[in-house]
Amino acid sequence: MAAFDEVRQLKKEHPRSLTMCGHVGFESLPDQLVDRSIQQGFCFNILCVGETGIGKSTLINTLFNTNFEELESSHFCPCVRLRAQTYELQESNVRLKLTVVNTVGFGDQINKEESYQPIVDYIDDQFEAYLQEELKIKRALFNYHDSRIHVCLYFIAPTGHSLRTLDLLTMKSLDSKVNIIPLIAKADTISKSELQKFKMKLMSELVINGVQIYQFPTDDDTTAKINGAMNGHLPFAVVGSMDEIQVGNKMVKARQYPWGIVQVENENHCDFVKLREMLICTNMEDLREQTHARHYELYRRCKLEEMGFADVGPENKPLSFRPNSSTLKESTRKRE
Ligand code: GDP
Repeated sequence: MAAFDEVRQLKKEHPRSLTMCGHVGFESLPDQLVDRSIQQGFCFNILCVGETGIGKSTLINTLFNTNFEELESSHFCPCVRLRAQTYELQESNVRLKLTVVNTVGFGDQINKEESYQPIVDYIDDQFEAYLQEELKIKRALFNYHDSRIHVCLYFIAPTGHSLRTLDLLTMKSLDSKVNIIPLIAKADTISKSELQKFKMKLMSELVINGVQIYQFPTDDDTTAKINGAMNGHLPFAVVGSMDEIQVGNKMVKARQYPWGIVQVENENHCDFVKLREMLICTNMEDLREQTHARHYELYRRCKLEEMGFADVGPENKPLSFRPNSSTLKESTRKRE
């Protein structure tokens, strides 16, 4: 009997490889996936964390090349709030449901101790909503509006000094819940040499304090090289602007000063293009995947354990949800 089980196990692990005598058609599976995804559309949720006036709304407008009509926030909010707005965007035939969540009043209170708690709660609430949907008997995950945060753009003030305690505490309390991409905001206000030193200082402070930021993945051959190189440029130093200014014979997005022009899309001026490339063109799908497979998975595991669920019972035996025969008989009788 044991030998028979062993053979069965082996068969399970090693499917036999066969050659087919002709065309079958499943080579079209990737195309079917693409068609279905285009029909369904995509959803992406961005959280912007940073003090009022640091340039969050301007950068989001610049990234998506549109005016999102954000209301201007005041510096006098009694506490931190999160404001979520959802938009439908379309580029050729691809539809994107984009939610931008902005922190309102972050860092504005005299006592900043509790500034990050509303952000943590917001992220958890979105995980909880998804978990509740997943646990329903009649689930509607297919057309469920997934509000889980896929990326947190963390705006650091261009002080040239170091991270503030509030930044460290906030990033530390978010790093196991969301993919963090740190940004140096308003990078046009810091000199080139100061910026290099500032970047190095920030990265070493993040490492020393054990803050895990999102690393662009290097396990896929097609993107490994570019992603690997971009990891070395973090935190990205960004400049935002929706103003179009003439440079040569072209109109470009830029900020004009009495002494010259800062071009948003000029890689010698700032890292805006690197951010757009990494966030939107190369790694949007990875950010969505990491959110589901890593951050949500962790939330779900802890929550289910808290609720008393377990994979193994006493004596380490796998638990089964399959009802035993007497419970089955009982439920059939009730249905009859
Ligand atoms: P938010 O409150 O964080 O959303 O900040 P806003 O995007 O409303 O920007 C606040 C102010 O900073 C506005 O006057 C913007 O024009 C300005 N600003 C935005 N981005 C930049 C930037 O990259 N550099 C500089 N120097 N100013 C910026």
